Amino acid sequence: MDSDRRQLHIFFFPHMVPGHTLPLVDTAKLFARRGVRATILTTPANAISVAASISRASEAGYPVETLLVEIPPAEAGVPENLADTNSADAQMNLLLSTARLRGPFELLLREHRPDAVVSDMFLPWSGEVAEELGVPRLVFHVTSFFSLCLFDTLFHHPPPESSDGEEGELYAVPGLPHRIQLDRSQIPDFRQHTPQFAELFAKAKQAEKKCFGVVVNSFYELEPEYADHYRKAVGMKAWHVGPVSLCNDHHGDRSARGGAGVDPDKCLSWLASKDPRSVTYVCFGSLCLFTAAQLREIALGLEASGHPFVWVVRDLAGKGGPSSEPWLPEGFEERTVGTGMVIRGWAPQLLLLNHEAVGGFVTHCGWNSCVEGITAGLPMVAWPMFADQFYNERLLVQVLGVGVSMGGAMRYTLREEERPLVGAEEVARAVKVLMGGGGGEMRLRARELKEAARAAMGEGGSSYGDMGFLIEELLGKQTTPETSRERREMMGKQ
Ligand code: UDP
Repeated sequence: MDSDRRQLHIFFFPHMVPGHTLPLVDTAKLFARRGVRATILTTPANAISVAASISRASEAGYPVETLLVEIPPAEAGVPENLADTNSADAQMNLLLSTARLRGPFELLLREHRPDAVVSDMFLPWSGEVAEELGVPRLVFHVTSFFSLCLFDTLFHHPPPESSDGEEGELYAVPGLPHRIQLDRSQIPDFRQHTPQFAELFAKAKQAEKKCFGVVVNSFYELEPEYADHYRKAVGMKAWHVGPVSLCNDHHGDRSARGGAGVDPDKCLSWLASKDPRSVTYVCFGSLCLFTAAQLREIALGLEASGHPFVWVVRDLAGKGGPSSEPWLPEGFEERTVGTGMVIRGWAPQLLLLNHEAVGGFVTHCGWNSCVEGITAGLPMVAWPMFADQFYNERLLVQVLGVGVSMGGAMRYTLREEERPLVGAEEVARAVKVLMGGGGGEMRLRARELKEAARAAMGEGGSSYGDMGFLIEELLGKQTTPETSRERREMMGKQ
């Protein structure tokens, strides 16, 4: 290292929801392993869910720490954590009000003067502050290159207005490496969100155009055509650094990830009593909600599939959410003793997915879950609901060949009560394909991708290398005494 280079210091600022915070904390830990001083910014309530994970990394000797973004007392009511919300509208309102963290973020940036900021795409104002202060900002994306390409193409070439997005009407997305057709009812429809959300999304896109580049939790070998397309056709400077969850290589890291929930040892001893690859793991991430009727159909479908299962259900008991109504079919728990485990609340997903008894994953296609399923070498049942999930479903099913669609009518909607009911027979059918002979090809492909993922993260691998290139570029931008004086002047300017 040149003598005038200092240790690189990067701020990592995630959005306060598990699907965004966990992968960015993993990313920060990976940078810290490469000698970068990694500071994670988060609100006090959100910090609790990642405290154990961060202290494990710092106890292991890596330079990673947390800084709290304190909310001014006058701003009481500012969100701290989105995962506890019990409706899509509440989640949206909290997302929009994160902009009120701008002031406290600016103070921290002035005080600590990091070399770069990696912040979530949903915090575009963090890019404005960084630009004002002359600090390079990288956007952190929690989706695939494939979805990033689709979002960009559909932003510039939306389907013609002539239709209302009827179910069954297909739109062929132009200009992509594969012929991708999407059901019109499954294309993200921002008209369903508030106008403020559409504005936030537009601001995020503008901020992205001005940023230093984007960091993606993916690996080149997974989606090479789309990694290239995003860089060349969309024109974004991007670094692939994933699968970042692989930094949790010890049992303790996997148990600690995301905070407290069910006792990990209880799950492991239950799984230990099952045959290798016999159990279906069912989890819909940290935000999806279901009606009580849909939960009942899932229960009956899992039971009818005849395969053992671990099913994680978001626990909103006492928070007024739909799943706080009674939803388990009568006698279900007695009938499934020994064959089914229902986890209410937070599950140690990485630990479970990587257990040898688990043979398939029913997922809502949140990107972290997709990439974690791939990294565990598992075929998947893809059951998307909103956000980028329908795009990820296409990637799993059509492009990668590691997933089967849930089937039944599916349409993009944030609200569980608007979702067509997927019956128990559909659920049972999909699980049988996944776990039975029909899943053989998918399983083989999934195993190949698991190996490729590990190779990408190892020394000499594509993600390892790309992180190294990014570190080098940032070191190259590190301030000299002169630029540092200029920067100090900017920092001092109010
Ligand atoms: N997760 C977990 N336990 C749970 C639910 C979720 O560990 O009970 C983790 C999961 O491993 C993933 C993240 O939370 O890293 C969820 O992100 P994803 O993109 O899959 O879905 P989202 O919650 O954003 O819809």
